[in-house]
Amino acid sequence: MSTPPAAPIIRADRDTRFRYEEKPFEAMMSRFDDAAQRLGLDPGIYSILRHPEKQLTVSVPIVRDSGQIEVFTGYRVIYNTARGPGKGGIRFHQDVSLDEVTALAAWMTWKCAVVNIPFGGAKGGVICDPLTMSPTELERLTRRYTSGIMAFLGPDSDVPAPDVNTNERVMAWLMDTYSMHVRHTVTAITTGKPVAMGGSLGRREATGRGCMITTRSALNRLKIPIKGARVAVQGFGNVGSISAMLMEREGMKVIAVSDQTGGLYDKNGLDVKDMIAYVAAHRSLEGYGKGQKMTNAELLAVECEVLVPAALENVLTPENAGDVKAKVICEGANGPTAAAADSILEANGVFVIPDILANAGGVTVSYFEWVQDRGGYFWEEDVVNQRLERIMERSFDEVAAMADRHNVSMRTASYMLAIDRVAEVHRLRGLYA
Ligand code: NAD
Repeated sequence: MSTPPAAPIIRADRDTRFRYEEKPFEAMMSRFDDAAQRLGLDPGIYSILRHPEKQLTVSVPIVRDSGQIEVFTGYRVIYNTARGPGKGGIRFHQDVSLDEVTALAAWMTWKCAVVNIPFGGAKGGVICDPLTMSPTELERLTRRYTSGIMAFLGPDSDVPAPDVNTNERVMAWLMDTYSMHVRHTVTAITTGKPVAMGGSLGRREATGRGCMITTRSALNRLKIPIKGARVAVQGFGNVGSISAMLMEREGMKVIAVSDQTGGLYDKNGLDVKDMIAYVAAHRSLEGYGKGQKMTNAELLAVECEVLVPAALENVLTPENAGDVKAKVICEGANGPTAAAADSILEANGVFVIPDILANAGGVTVSYFEWVQDRGGYFWEEDVVNQRLERIMERSFDEVAAMADRHNVSMRTASYMLAIDRVAEVHRLRGLYA
């Protein structure tokens, strides 16, 4: 049953290569170590939290359309399940590595803890170039990879989601494969599914909505008027375009946006809805006639109140962090700031809403999806949005309170809050001998 999907399975414009070389696991761990030290974390619990619970490497043989067999390598890492089932996306990319998957799985652990949802952290990936694969090859790859990691999966043990180059179509295949194995339909095995088969309303907009909500909280905290606050957004995909649209709706002025084809600037404000319609028709901003052209490097240094890096990892580095003029950075992307750039932004008084807080709206609505699937009762979109707003506002306030109490940056505070929550559960549960 391999009907070609209406929408492309993969998005050709994703580029996740680490431009600024920083080993992902070590970059994540340098922030973890700093936070753990400030918390005075028990050395035993520190050791537990520094190690992934489980790492699985699987060979994924598939028959290519040519009739030849090719074997791919896939990973699934469950970093920590003290607070609940592993939760984290699956990416298909030629640069996937065990180190990267492990770092991303740890990140998910801290992200779920920051917003206080009952999940641990996990991540998966397959080393492949999906651009060179047909939809039927991708379906075979997804199904064989899913059966390879079956021992990890389960609504109570490990719940995947889409990530780079995977989407709701891929999640539908994963859910079907899992359900065939266990002989009944299990919608709660994955999140980010099509709404018709147990997905949640509001999931598509959730990450951008979370970015808007946390940015609003940051502007209020800094006493910067929301109305007229100038916003620059790098990346105009799901996260960037929805963030821009919702920030504009709050009265902010989106003066610069970019995607991988370049940037556009208008000091009087760009028309976000119009640009979203253009990208829907042309796949990128290339050829959009309005606004002044600008490079991605110029966008990062533009005069504005809010900068939203929502495209790639490591775009703010020690080389360009000093050029940032924004008062607030809302990290829509995962890891847009290299660890080595943190101190520069901090010294310059830039208020950074860290990724594990700023973009946690997505996993929060994934949690809602899992809850709805398990209850078999689905919520109206406004209920989803209200509950998301409450969680994001509360989480921002809790991180800010931690930052005030310890006189640290929001990034350090978010790690401290997350690590403290995971550590507390380890202490309460004790060690199974
Ligand atoms: P997407 O593929 O929908 O959009 C990515 C955008 O970045 C595209 O507009 C693309 O053109 C642009 N881009 C690519 N290379 C670029 C470059 N060199 N310069 C400028 N722009 C460039 O992806 P997305 O889902 O919006 O995810 C963006 C980031 O947010 C990723 O880091 C992702 O991990 C993170 N994130 C996404 C979600 C989610 O729910 N989608 C949740 C949490 C975190």
